[in-house]
Amino acid sequence: MVDVTSRPVDLGEAVGLLTAARQVVLLAHVNPDADALGSALALGLALHRRGAEVQVSFGAPERPAESLRDLDVDGLVVPADRVVGAPELLVVLDTGSVDRLGPLADRAVTAGTTLVIDHHESNAGFGTHYYVDPRAEATAVMVLHLLDAMGVSVDLPTARCLYAGLVTDTRNFRAASPDTHAMAARLLVAGVDAEAVTRPLLDTHPFSWLAMLSAVLATATLEVDEARGLGLVHALIRHDLVSGGRQEEVESVIDVLRTTAEAEAAVVLKQVGEHRWTASMRSKGRIDVAAAASALGGGGHRVASGFTLDGDAPEILDRVRRALADAPLLG
Ligand code: 5GP
Ligand code: MN
Repeated sequence: MVDVTSRPVDLGEAVGLLTAARQVVLLAHVNPDADALGSALALGLALHRRGAEVQVSFGAPERPAESLRDLDVDGLVVPADRVVGAPELLVVLDTGSVDRLGPLADRAVTAGTTLVIDHHESNAGFGTHYYVDPRAEATAVMVLHLLDAMGVSVDLPTARCLYAGLVTDTRNFRAASPDTHAMAARLLVAGVDAEAVTRPLLDTHPFSWLAMLSAVLATATLEVDEARGLGLVHALIRHDLVSGGRQEEVESVIDVLRTTAEAEAAVVLKQVGEHRWTASMRSKGRIDVAAAASALGGGGHRVASGFTLDGDAPEILDRVRRALADAPLLG
């Protein structure tokens, strides 16, 4: 059990902790996406170049998704089993709760200081210090503010990491504020090739993806009365398809499902073990899927959330229907 006193810090205090440490481990959540890994790498690159000893890691899987590997230009990423046991400073990025660190959750206890940097609404604060801003559209936004406050100039490798986080978490800048667009403009001026960074993240799949997608979409079911009468669409990805392909293909299914006009809520259940399912939930902005996911032991954002549960698919779908029936409507 994690039993440490946590307290919120502002940007200045977070900078103080980051600049004082000589040895830093930066962790992303399990199955890190571009915001989690890009944020950890951007901050890791800056600290490494200031002379700190730096490791970047995550609990699982062993290596980053293929489309994210090029971001690690300094070779900072290490497998989870090589992460030092008790780092001077642990920085946990884009991770709404300590369980999302998977097998590395213990480091939040053994580290000298643990600083959480996150933008999840559901983050109640953990570690010894936490800097949480639910208004930030991506953790990468928070990291760029930190780098600016540290007086670090954003070089091209760092800019690529941040751009990857921004483009992913804002769904290609559709959910980005004017300030975030201005931030992206800065990264382009630093030399980022938007197309070259974005295409592998959002638009590239092997030919075999088409067959996988068609098999999964054949299981899609529309239930117009669910989600408080706003409509639910769901689909299942069985274990062979989850384990047989890349993370990029598995994670892409929800983006197809959520385009369903008749459904406010979309849910993809991914079978990660014989009786274990992890879910992606999305809403179009009228129903709070973070609340629904939290009721099922998960979390996330109001329009994008997830959870992991043991059981069989029909039983978990029933729990999803009940959680959505109780989920708040958004104004
Ligand atoms: P995705 O569907 O892209 O994996 O996740 C969407 C959002 O839900 C992310 O913000 C992610 O952090 C959160 N999320 C996904 N799966 C889980 C989970 O198993 N537990 C918790 N607490 N959050 C999750
Ligand atoms: Mn994020």
